[in-house]
Amino acid sequence: RSRGKLYAQDDIGITFEDIAGVEEAVEEVREIVDFLKYPEKYQRLGGRIPKGVLLVGPPGTGKTLLAKAIAGEAGVPFFSLSGSDFVEMFVGVGAARVRDMFQQASAKAPCIIFIDELDALGKSRSGNSVGVHDEREQTLNALLVEMDGFGANVGIIIIAATNRPETLDPALLRPGRFDRNVLVDRPDKSGRADILKVHVKNVKLGTDVDLQHIASITSGFSGADLGNLVNEAALLAARKGKNTVGQPEFDEGVERVTAGLEKKSRIMD
Ligand code: ATP
Repeated sequence: RSRGKLYAQDDIGITFEDIAGVEEAVEEVREIVDFLKYPEKYQRLGGRIPKGVLLVGPPGTGKTLLAKAIAGEAGVPFFSLSGSDFVEMFVGVGAARVRDMFQQASAKAPCIIFIDELDALGKSRSGNSVGVHDEREQTLNALLVEMDGFGANVGIIIIAATNRPETLDPALLRPGRFDRNVLVDRPDKSGRADILKVHVKNVKLGTDVDLQHIASITSGFSGADLGNLVNEAALLAARKGKNTVGQPEFDEGVERVTAGLEKKSRIMD
């Protein structure tokens, strides 16, 4: 996907079956699927359907996946953009893009707009900003204006993801904007086992593979890390010319992914 390009997908093909280990988050967003499918049920008594939902959690825990699954379960189009797409853009372009996105979305409502890395776009506004910041502020302002501008019941729900909620401009969190918060946290041991089960669905496993054991030696792994691990193990087994993926490949895969994670955290220090 090229920088800043709008991206709409009609049939997302992802459901809650594809997500594991974050049951509480899934339970919290089930209601949103219902809002999108049966808006009349909620509007009948004068209720206002929420416009914005903020998914908060560390990288790779499934926030994007969860947003896509909401669209998939509700059977509505999924528009996505990333907050970082707006950095380093010419003044006015980001704001125009936001308006364009909302225009396209209202033509396709009910639908979901997903904004990844909201913090890149929605950082607290500082008094003395120049250059990139001016552009970001204009884009943020355009987003606020658009969010306030559409009625609560037009069937657009904006889902945004962040791993730094504390840096967000408080204006984004006001009632009628991103006033709902859903935590998408790293999985615990049984969550990791469940995520592994999702990722091995299409993998030929050897009879020696013990997913519970793998879950117990992958403390700190995110869903993305676990997906990575399963893929590493499958590639290792293929390289060895095996017909199934066995426990030794998973053990080796854990080492590789762990080494990769350590390297990454050293670079970030
Ligand atoms: P980031 O904050 O880095 O954007 P994210 O929270 O949006 O990350 P995703 O992009 O949804 O994470 O996850 C990346 C991939 O990792 C998913 O496509 C999926 O394969 C796997 N994954 C992550 N979390 C889960 C989960 N809870 N269950 C199953 N698979 C997961």
